[in-house]
Amino acid sequence: MEPIRCCVACKARKDKKEFFRIVADNEKKAIIDKNQNINSRGIYICKDKKCIESLKKAINKNKVKIKIDINDCSLLEVLEELGEVIWEK
Ligand SMILES: [Zn+2]
Repeated sequence: MEPIRCCVACKARKDKKEFFRIVADNEKKAIIDKNQNINSRGIYICKDKKCIESLKKAINKNKVKIKIDINDCSLLEVLEELGEVIWEK
């Protein structure tokens, strides 16, 4: 069975392949883990603009609860990028 993960925005539980994975590098900068194989703690978010927007709002209001130490600005940039990936579909 594939590992089940939880979306940081809507808390939905799904197969990890259904999510985008974001990890922090050793300078706390957010990076998209496209192949989901970077050996670092990461967060998962649905490939859904609603979840991306709600996480962006939470960051802007300083209300994010994520378990990894990550730079907010770089996380916003990554979310921006992921949002564009979705629009292109
Ligand atoms: Zn979600």
